[in-house]
Amino acid sequence: MLAPTPNFSAPRTGPRLLVRLNAAPASKEAAIREAASLLTAAGCIDAAYGASMLRREDVSNTYLGHGVVIPHGMVDDRHWVRESGLAVLQVPGGIEWHDGQVAHLVVAIAAQSDTHITVLRRLTRLIQDEDRLERLRSTASEAEIARALTEDSAAPASTGPATDLRQRFDWTVDYPTGLHARPASHWVETARTCPARIQVRHGDAVADAKNLIALLQLGLRCGDEVTISAEGDDEAGALAKICAAVTGLSAGEKAAAQRAAEAAAKAAGPVAGWNPSDKPRVMAGLGASPGLTIGPVHVLAAAEIVVPDEPEPLTSGADRLHRALATTGDQLRALADDTERRLGKADAGIFKAQGELIADTDLITLACQLMVEGHGVAFAWNAAVERMAGQLSALGNPVLAARAADLRDVGRRVLAQIDPALKSGHDLPDVPCILIAPDLAPSDTAGLDPARVIGLATAQGGPTSHTAILARTLGIPAMVAGGPGLLAIENHTRAILDGTTGRLYLSPSEADIASAEAWRAKQREQAEAEARERAQPAQTRDGHRVAVGGNVNNPDQVPLALDQGAEGVGLMRTEFLFLERGDTPSEDDQYATYSAMLKALGGRPLIVRTLDIGGDKQVAHLHLPREENPFLGVRGARLLLRRPDLMEPQLRALYRAAKDHVPADAPKGKDAPLSIMMPMITSVPEVVKLREICERIRQEIGAPEVPLGIMIEVPAAAIQADAMARHCDFFSIGTNDLTQYALAIDRQNTDLAPEADSLHPAVLRLIHMTCEGAARHNRFVGVCGGIAGDPFGACLLAGLGIDELSMTPRDLPGVKARLRASDMAELKALALRACEQEDAAAVRALDTNAPGA
Ligand code: PEP
Ligand code: MG
Repeated sequence: MLAPTPNFSAPRTGPRLLVRLNAAPASKEAAIREAASLLTAAGCIDAAYGASMLRREDVSNTYLGHGVVIPHGMVDDRHWVRESGLAVLQVPGGIEWHDGQVAHLVVAIAAQSDTHITVLRRLTRLIQDEDRLERLRSTASEAEIARALTEDSAAPASTGPATDLRQRFDWTVDYPTGLHARPASHWVETARTCPARIQVRHGDAVADAKNLIALLQLGLRCGDEVTISAEGDDEAGALAKICAAVTGLSAGEKAAAQRAAEAAAKAAGPVAGWNPSDKPRVMAGLGASPGLTIGPVHVLAAAEIVVPDEPEPLTSGADRLHRALATTGDQLRALADDTERRLGKADAGIFKAQGELIADTDLITLACQLMVEGHGVAFAWNAAVERMAGQLSALGNPVLAARAADLRDVGRRVLAQIDPALKSGHDLPDVPCILIAPDLAPSDTAGLDPARVIGLATAQGGPTSHTAILARTLGIPAMVAGGPGLLAIENHTRAILDGTTGRLYLSPSEADIASAEAWRAKQREQAEAEARERAQPAQTRDGHRVAVGGNVNNPDQVPLALDQGAEGVGLMRTEFLFLERGDTPSEDDQYATYSAMLKALGGRPLIVRTLDIGGDKQVAHLHLPREENPFLGVRGARLLLRRPDLMEPQLRALYRAAKDHVPADAPKGKDAPLSIMMPMITSVPEVVKLREICERIRQEIGAPEVPLGIMIEVPAAAIQADAMARHCDFFSIGTNDLTQYALAIDRQNTDLAPEADSLHPAVLRLIHMTCEGAARHNRFVGVCGGIAGDPFGACLLAGLGIDELSMTPRDLPGVKARLRASDMAELKALALRACEQEDAAAVRALDTNAPGA
């Protein structure tokens, strides 16, 4: 069947436009020949340019995206182009183009001078409009295709005429913090469900209600008068819908502002510990790593990233941008889902709003335009984000300035997807600073240099999060869960951060700085006194000795732990070997690390925990399926049992290290310096299976037996401790997780963090049961969760019958000093009294040594 003859040609102001509907070329080459013959017949090219188009396909893929391909000739053959022209084949059945990509619109370009860029600019706009593309694939109207390829971008909504559409209503903004991204994205979501046009006017400024950035550019503050109007299909229905959406948010916005005001008022109250006298502005969070620190703040969200301009072919650049946007969209949706579950709809809204920001067609088009101008994709994206964010912040409105920060923040997420090397380059100032960030991934925190970061305050997170644990390891005073207000603090503002009480005091007076320094000096004196005694054993006055270890993840940290008084390593979290790099370490890599740990410890005990992936420790490169409730899903031992490819190399590496490092004089079995411990155990069959696997691998390697222990982190394991003890050599209680699971509080939940106290009597009773179960089988019990490093917590644990405490090395001197000043008989009585209390606050009130007690 002959293909229909094109009968449409665009007006002769731009390139000639030839459209053929319902084409059905047999192959990609046939499609290119067909398009080229249209151009040749119209006199746009010499036939030789068609051959040049085919040659181009051998050197690059001209698939642009979303079923659009742009065959064009080689640059050197441009002299075969007589007149700029486009030949468009509509291929409803699709044609395989490259590597499974299917083309439905073949846009063959014969371009002189800058016509090519103009066409691509239109196409980059068009390819973001999937609905329209879908229509173009099957339309019977050549004019519709021609229009899509000839019309230029509409004028930005915000510069539209200051007139209203047919139906309207007036409204006075009553959101206390103005129209910020969260409510604005709700407006947009609602408006997009309506076929009618909807517009919002404030004075002379007009915005399309379906365009988030345009809406935000109105900069609406509380009290501003606006007119919202609609026109088109079901305009009355649209107006009613948007009216309900706009006014329906008022109560929630007011309540959120009220909550923020109450939190601020609460934050101003006195705390047990250091208090300022001159009432500086206070941002309150939760203490995550103790210590007072004074310095300028640096907000990480505002960090500049240097993005190199590395041009690449537009087609691959467009694909990369598309993939980055899609992945970021998925991430934001997951984050929004997760946040909605944990904190509620209102807080999740910010991620939905961020998703809208990056879906903005103006932003994407701008990036594509920069790409077609020859810039690299990362550079083009970054420049587009900066340009849009600059426009938002240039309006001098604080609401918009915050949106600009949001746009930059989400823009950076996309950038990290485009090029992982551009991931959060922490461009810290030269002077030491208090770092403020929305949150930090454990690996980001691990990479902080304590010489440059003297304090850390995060908007999100909880005190048992890994960020907090790592900050303690690094000795950086830290506060978490300070709320989003932290991110609005001006860079360089002088501040005092109290990581013990979880407060950040802004622009303190000289007198308050002096008093903070004096307090710090006193604390330092006490710490120095404790440090002088740190090599002494943790032996109570009546002679009971508690073993103490450090929680250390790599051999470089061992000397510091030993220096702080550790007698060994009670917990090596091996997931950091996986988290800190972009791939899975090989068996040999792991062997080298475990061997180096044993070497650094010089015969002292080392307890290595096998991989505990899942929950808050996600390893991107393992591509594990996303779970609704990762803390209740396939994590720890559950994952190990399902993934022999991860567990077995690790066990082989461990047994090889055990084999090669047995001290010549060590008795067989128990006293080998290496112990292996399994995380997140819930049931006896899990332990039995894991033991069998360990034993098989041990025999294969011919290694000596090493003690095999389990972590008690789940109430089921604590309650069944006696049964568990039959099948393993020791326990180590992970109080961070045990608290989370006993109290049903996600350890990362910012709102509930103050209630997630490991000294809750319910947790203490579970620990007590664990000790009793272990005692029946004469098993050793350690604690390696955060509460082991709290001097009062350590006293209670010792009183409950714990044999060993393993903690962040910096906590060792304080814990040892406190135990040495105690009597075991008193600690036992104290621990039993603590178990009888009604809540954690009552337990803490038993601490007669607390600051201010
Ligand atoms: C714990 O849960 O207390 C523990 C030590 O393990 P992690 O913090 O690594 O989950
Ligand atoms: Mg744990």
